[in-house]
Amino acid sequence: MGYDPNGATRNAPEGATRCRAVTSGPSVRSADRRCRPLEARALSTENVPRQFKRAVRPRRGQRCWRKPRALEPAWNMRAVPSRVPAFAIVRGPMTSATGLLSRRDFLAGAAALPLAAGGLGRAMATPLNAPFSVGAFRIMPILDGPFGLTPALIPDADSVEGEKLVERAGLPKLGPWPQPVNVFAINRGDRFYVVDAGAGATLGPDLGKAAERLAAVGVPPERVNALLMTHLHADHAGGLMKADGTALFPNAELVVQQMEVAFWSDDGAMSRMPTSMEPMFMIARKALEAYKGRVRTVNGSGEAVPGITFVPLPGHTPGHAGFLLADGKEQFLIFADTIHSALLQFPHPAWTVVFDVDASLAAATRRGILDRLVIDKIGVTGSHIPDRGRIIARQAGYVLVD
Ligand SMILES: [Zn+2]
Repeated sequence: MGYDPNGATRNAPEGATRCRAVTSGPSVRSADRRCRPLEARALSTENVPRQFKRAVRPRRGQRCWRKPRALEPAWNMRAVPSRVPAFAIVRGPMTSATGLLSRRDFLAGAAALPLAAGGLGRAMATPLNAPFSVGAFRIMPILDGPFGLTPALIPDADSVEGEKLVERAGLPKLGPWPQPVNVFAINRGDRFYVVDAGAGATLGPDLGKAAERLAAVGVPPERVNALLMTHLHADHAGGLMKADGTALFPNAELVVQQMEVAFWSDDGAMSRMPTSMEPMFMIARKALEAYKGRVRTVNGSGEAVPGITFVPLPGHTPGHAGFLLADGKEQFLIFADTIHSALLQFPHPAWTVVFDVDASLAAATRRGILDRLVIDKIGVTGSHIPDRGRIIARQAGYVLVD
């Protein structure tokens, strides 16, 4: 689906209904959000999807098109539903062989998390359910799908403190605890970048929604100029490829840390890892092969594309990195897999996930970048957290706040 800068506002999409913007009462924000995707006034003649424009809040009584529900891109799991009791997550069967929650259960559980993670009376962070700007950059978070963490994946969570946090969040003691896999579309001028590509067809049917959701918001694969890779784990690199293993993004260069490419390409490294990691190596290699001739490697904190630099965050993988967006005085960091569970790892940054290639380095890196963010006070989000905000120190850990 290509983006037509003019047509979409003249013609409502198939199945769309007229809606009246509600600008009073408690639902102002949701009305704003509901109408934003087809907000005509947010469009200019510039060849840029209107979703990337600053939202224009509908005036009282102003009419706008509302997309039919099924067509709405799920920018993030927090978008719906807004207030579901925490216990909702324990209902309903698992839907896939991967043991992931159904999307519905995931949404229900995730909606309950902010209360548990943030606590009463504390400033909560901003849900990743809408585009936002950093200077001239327009960033749109896209949910690739949910995955479930368990105590087996964060062994330190199998503890009195872990159980307390999980119980307070209303989550099942043994998991799965739902986490998002986020992809970020970034636009500046006529350039379109995508940070990570989601899981594609590699990790089961609950994941791999990024491509269709990107297309639904006006960023089809052929429009993407550069793929900015935080690292090459399957939930980030699987979506680079179609199901047949060929490149999904025909015009994009793949920008990744040199060390990351070296690690996944190294037979010696593969032989030193548990055999269960072999599929990860194969997926990373397939992705690099699919983009052969257009992989651009960067060392350390070099520039990925104009205004966006790598922030090396080694440990999770050797070339694991975040991306710092900077425009004028505005800065924002996408810190990738620094945190896999906001609930558990913000208060306990020493707790590691079993996916870490070097767990103690990953923990030290996490502590280091979170300390830096406390001082720098810049906005941040990540690949597996449902919000964006600033980091503050609290007790022995950290909290993400608005
Ligand atoms: Zn990840």
